[in-house]
Amino acid sequence: MNKKRKPINSIQRNKLLDKNGYSCCVCKATNIGLHLHHIDGNPDNNDDSNIAVLCVKEHDKHHRPSQYRDNLNHIELTSERIKQNKDSWENFVLESKKPQPQILAVVNAFGTSENVTTIRLIFQWTNIEKIEFQKDFHHVDIPFKEIPDLILSEIQRFGENIQLIIFDQIETIEHCKNRHGALSRIVNLNYATRIISPDWQNKARCNIFINPIRPSLAICIFFESEKDPIYSVSIHKCGNDFHIHDELNDIKVPFLLNKIRTQLTNLVNSIIFEEWNINPLNILIATGKHDNPTIIDKLYFPKIWEAH
Ligand SMILES: [Zn+2]
Ligand SMILES: [Zn+2]
Repeated sequence: MNKKRKPINSIQRNKLLDKNGYSCCVCKATNIGLHLHHIDGNPDNNDDSNIAVLCVKEHDKHHRPSQYRDNLNHIELTSERIKQNKDSWENFVLESKKPQPQILAVVNAFGTSENVTTIRLIFQWTNIEKIEFQKDFHHVDIPFKEIPDLILSEIQRFGENIQLIIFDQIETIEHCKNRHGALSRIVNLNYATRIISPDWQNKARCNIFINPIRPSLAICIFFESEKDPIYSVSIHKCGNDFHIHDELNDIKVPFLLNKIRTQLTNLVNSIIFEEWNINPLNILIATGKHDNPTIIDKLYFPKIWEAH
């Protein structure tokens, strides 16, 4: 029995292509033939939720999996994976068009300082720890001077309001044996809040607590009315270093032996103003007892910081 296929009309086709940014929802390629695939295998089920935009390659991978099983790094393109890709990708394309999208474009460079071999563009979410997709530009394929324009046009094809963050530190390529290529560096979610919030300067507050008897202090940054800080860092004196400790890093920064407190003031200012862009009116500095602190009107560190 030959069933008559209900065709997908051009209005629905265009709507679906638009929802997918005219890209394959699996590999995100755009300059390639795109097919509409029925996820449940039923050609009569033309509901939007059942139709995935796939490039010819991914479409073939799904329908003829045996042709690809010999490939290294082959992951079976199951219906479930197509569905997950479609939902996530359509969400991403929709979000990217918003005036303040919860998405950042991040650039990583790989190689050595003498020889950068790869520039990677990563699209990450800022509300969940997730990379939506990434694209590598290899020096061997593309002259470097063309890469900035390629990156900008790749971002603009989704939305004008996606902010671009460039990690200027060059990452060495660490090959993970379970994954082809190097690991990506993305922006931590709390720091992303500071980048994407347009009214950050009004809504962010900073509390600094200076320990009155030990060379130690803590900085907490709050956003909106949230009780838990989105960032906190403690700094104490450790030998001839400032020991800076936060959720992700544990670093030591050496200081010169005189005017330690001036260097400390500069360090604290660089954290609150340069790194976190806090409005000076929203800073509260306290010292004394933790449960009954004294508010002071400017940074003042006790003499114990200068002791050797
Ligand atoms: Zn594809
Ligand atoms: Zn199909």
